[in-house]
Parts: sequence; structure tokens; C-alpha cells
Amino acid sequence: MTNRDAPQVIKDSSMLKQKEMIAGNYAKLEAAPATGQKVVSTFVPGNLNELIMCFDMLNNLPEINALQNGMRKRTGAYIMEAEKRGHSEDVCTYVKADLGMIAKGNLGPDGQKLPDPDLLLLSYTGCFTFMKWFELLRDHYKCETAMLHVPYQGDGKITPNMIAYVVKQLKEEVIPKLEKISGVKFDIDRLREYLARSARAEEDLVWVLETAKSKPSPIDAYFGGVYYIGPIFTAFRGTEDAVEYYRLLRTEITERLARGQGPVTPTGELTEERYRLVVEGPPNWTSFRDFWKMFYEEGAVVVASTYSKVGGLYDLGFRHDPARPLESLAEYCLGCYTNRNLPSRIDLIERYMHEYQADGLVINSIKSCNSFSAGQLLVLREIERRTGKPGAFIESDLVDPRYFSPANIKNRLESYFQMIDQRRAGSRAARAA
Ligand code: SF4
Repeated sequence: MTNRDAPQVIKDSSMLKQKEMIAGNYAKLEAAPATGQKVVSTFVPGNLNELIMCFDMLNNLPEINALQNGMRKRTGAYIMEAEKRGHSEDVCTYVKADLGMIAKGNLGPDGQKLPDPDLLLLSYTGCFTFMKWFELLRDHYKCETAMLHVPYQGDGKITPNMIAYVVKQLKEEVIPKLEKISGVKFDIDRLREYLARSARAEEDLVWVLETAKSKPSPIDAYFGGVYYIGPIFTAFRGTEDAVEYYRLLRTEITERLARGQGPVTPTGELTEERYRLVVEGPPNWTSFRDFWKMFYEEGAVVVASTYSKVGGLYDLGFRHDPARPLESLAEYCLGCYTNRNLPSRIDLIERYMHEYQADGLVINSIKSCNSFSAGQLLVLREIERRTGKPGAFIESDLVDPRYFSPANIKNRLESYFQMIDQRRAGSRAARAA
């Protein structure tokens, strides 16, 4: 059976578990005006979920709302609404999808009204858009804001001073504000308990992602990877649910690995691994399945991706540490992918190319995401130079359906796979000579 005629797949228990968790969090958010539970809006990279839970507050993530709406094909209308209200075509489409959603009644991905936030908590990890986005929301909601300034890793390293600076802000700015809004006193032992759970889930996530070093890889670390990172990058890091989700996932992947199976995709199981790729850049959400299918039909598996590290680079060894609770939250924020300079991003991709025995690097350059897209051509050339493997550059957008051109992307990918074939044939001929 080829990858083109595989049957539909049955959902794994981990997928069902995650679906339940996400629906449960939206249900709690939507009930907040009635239950009186306080709501924090915050972003994925650098999110302080364990800390937020210490104050019995709920976590609402605008990027997740935008991508969930993108997958449900609702963001086109939201983006047009935001543009009608004066936001430029070049602004990050997560922002416009959020602002358009608010303007059209603030209905979440499940069609129910989302609550107004009680606090906008900006953990500033490298993307300037985060700041401008929350300025607009502050203007709209007139609610409390707290900013955690996370110093950029300009020199590619985290110094003790940087950690002390972030911890000081946690103690003097963030925690007092969370106490004030929630009326709950901060309990550091509660935080330690959550962080211990985070570390357990992180361990299992890394194990799962690293199975892609096997041939064939039992997972797709980009298209599948974005599902795997879902709980840990959002409102569940530090919960028992997340620990259970990653335990389930690990068990499922262990079985796939033992049976020598390839990844499960929405179109079917990938039965023939022909190309192993590293992918840089966020995915396109509005045509997510079609995009994935283009790789699936060619037998291309993504064995490592940078986007699946956007909310934490656990595979480099970092774990939340209950023995150093605030310091480890600081290290987590400092280590986010968006907070890393270009040379460290290139080193990371090079490492993935070697460790995961990839045939090449594909960059999906997102039109409206400067934080990822700046310097990507340079990244591509440098990786080609260092590894001798070919790279491909495709362009799309996060949640703007106007910037996903299936024919162009498919053509480009097909020529790219031919290029990999030619290189392979060339190396075989050189070895035989
Ligand atoms: S990192 Fe990119 S997608 Fe995320 S907020 Fe910044 S510009 Fe938008």
C-alpha cells in the first residue's frame, strides 16, 4: 500500500484526551463570568501557566484562539474585519484574527463567547508584536496589565544576571499583581508541586520527539508535533491532565516504534518514508491538512522542527525545577526559541539535521511573522553550506487564507524532492566510481 491510498485513521486515546482537555478549558473560560473565576490572557512563548494556576486563575491564549479559528476557516473574515478597521496587511495575522474576533462578538473556536480578561500578562520573549498586541487589548479592555521583561539572548547565552532580573520582576511585579486580582495569597509550595508535574510531562514529550531519530520515524515532528506540544505549551503545563496525556502519548508511540510504523496523519498512516526533513517556521493553519497531505503523498516525514520548540526547548535539557521554582520559570522564559538570536537558531537547526539524519531543510516563511521570518534566507544558505544538504523555501501565512497558494507550494515541494533524489543518485554514482 502506498501513502496515496492508505485508509482513514482511527483517533488515538491521547488525541481524544487532548480534545477533551481543550474543550474543558474553553468551557471553564466561557463560564468565568458566572463562576467568578479570574482570567489571565497571556502568550504561548514564556507562558507562566504554573504560576497562574497558583492563583486559581484561568489561562486564555490569544494565539491559540487564532489558530483554532484558523483551522475552522473563520479567520479570513476576522482578518478582513481588522483590516477594515485600519490594521495594515503586514500586521501579524494572529493579531488581526484576534481583533476581528473581538469586533465580531468575541466568540471562541467553539462558538461561545469568551470572557474579558482580568489581567493581560505579557511575558516578553523576543517578539515585539506581543507588546503592540497587548497595548491594543489594554486599550480595548481597560484591564490590569503586568509586563515581565525577558532580556533577549543577544550573545546566545543566559547569564545569572538575566535570571536574577527576571526573578526580581516575578517577585515585585507579577506575583503581587496576580495576588491583588485573584485575592489568593502566593504559596511557593503549590508552585513547586505544579513544576514537578511539568518536568514529568516534559520528560515524556522529549522522549516522544526524539523517537524521530529512528528510521522510519514513528512520528511527524512538525504536523504531528504541533498536536504533541498542545497541552504543554498552553493551559495545561503543571496539571495532572498533562502528565497523563504525555504518558498516554508515550505508550502509543512506544508501540508504533516497536512495530516499525510510520506517523499517523489525517489522510492515513505513512507507510513509506522516502524523505526525512527538518522544518523551520510556523505552519499554515487555514489549510493545515492540505499542507500536510502534500508531504504525506511524497512520503516526506518531518523529523524535527523549530516551531515545535516555540513554547520551550526541552530537548536541549531544560526542565522546570521545583527546587528552584522562580529561577526555573525565569530560565524557561529566557530559553524560548523566539528569544534566541540567529546564530543559536542556525546551530540548533544544524544539530537537528545531523542528529535526525535529515535529507534537507524546508523553511515555511510566514508572511506576517517577522519574529520567525527575519533572516530565514540566511539560515537556509548557512545550513546548506554547513551540511551540504539542499534546502527549500516556501511562503505562506499563519491564518490568512489569502496567502496559501496550494499549486505554487506543491510545485515547489515536488521540485525540491526531485532535487533530493538527484543528489542521492549523484552520491551513489560517486561512491560506485
Ligand atoms: S512570533 Fe510571529 S506569529 Fe507570534 S505574535 Fe510574533 S509575529 Fe505574530
